[in-house]
Amino acid sequence: MRVLVTGGAGFIGSHLCERLLKEGHEVICLDNFFTGSKRNIVHLLDHNDFELVRHDVTEPILLEVDRIYNLACPASPIHYQYNPVKTIKTSVMGAINMLGIAKRVRARILQASTSEVYGDPQVHPQTEAYWGNVNTLGIRSCYDEGKRVAETLMMDYHRQNHVDIRIIRIFNTYGPKMAENDGRVVSNFILQALRGEDITVYGEGAQTRSFCYVSDLVEGMIRMMETPGFTGPVNLGNPAETTILEFAKKIITLTGSSSRIVYRPLPADDPKQRQPDITLAKQMLGWEPRVCVDDGLKQTIDYFRSVLTTA
Ligand code: NAD
Ligand code: UDP
Repeated sequence: MRVLVTGGAGFIGSHLCERLLKEGHEVICLDNFFTGSKRNIVHLLDHNDFELVRHDVTEPILLEVDRIYNLACPASPIHYQYNPVKTIKTSVMGAINMLGIAKRVRARILQASTSEVYGDPQVHPQTEAYWGNVNTLGIRSCYDEGKRVAETLMMDYHRQNHVDIRIIRIFNTYGPKMAENDGRVVSNFILQALRGEDITVYGEGAQTRSFCYVSDLVEGMIRMMETPGFTGPVNLGNPAETTILEFAKKIITLTGSSSRIVYRPLPADDPKQRQPDITLAKQMLGWEPRVCVDDGLKQTIDYFRSVLTTA
């Protein structure tokens, strides 16, 4: 099949492109390189079945494809808050443009939604049936509400135009090729530990997250795309929940670092708890994560070590 991956030069997108090429598909990677990097895909450029298109999803484009994975959107809080108007345009106009292609060429389209649609959740763990607790006015809203509208657009194109859709809600995912400067907790803590700098825990570190290794996520995405008759939304994430303070200590242990933990103010609207209920993914996709957090973190630490030594 010919597969379009928007945001294909980003962290998750580049892993997905690699996996799709290994499965024998033709891959069109579309990216505007806002947070993605050529370094993530440079090894794919000579592949006969790989094509790179520099394009912004907020602008229309027509491509003949069988599948669309719509990942284009900055994902880390500092990146999506850098230009919030652009972030919401990317989610909303990007979804409209990609759904337009799906409608015209009858492609199946998968939307990379997020656990952020649950906001600061009052239901724990989060199931797909929960409608969420999102602030429409806060600094995270450009991302959260953009993603929520993208889900709505997917459902409306499905009901109104019979577009073949899939919606996945991705929970915190990590692994090699995360951007060093994205300010996310995994990259921040590992880089701080490797450099011997203070580890910056926001608030008291009592907030929780559940971290999924990228290869597990990519497996879930592909299963979701290829499972007939199931639109989702479906949660994809690793239910192994940890407080951020425990996570900081784990990184110190795994890196053998002598870094100290320091406390910094908690950003506004930072969700207090987050853990996916993956019952639906298990039932419908036969999917659950395989990589335990320690193993995934070791791979990620090795990656950041190599980045630091080649920098
Ligand atoms: P990333 O920032 O590494 O990748 C996003 C990619 O989209 C980048 O390559 C960027 O250049 C590209 N992009 C941004 N705006 C664009 C635009 N207007 N036009 C074309 N390309 C554009 O982030 P990621 O972690 O790989 O996230 C990929 C997708 O998964 C995003 O949609 C994100 O919202 C979603 N997601 C990720 C996580 C996570 O933990 N990593 C969690 C939930 C959802
Ligand atoms: N965090 C932290 N120190 C950092 C970066 C993040 O304590 O240097 C916290 C952040 O406040 C949040 C959690 O780690 O509670 C996850 O943050 P991230 O930006 O990775 O993703 P989020 O899940 O908040 O979108």
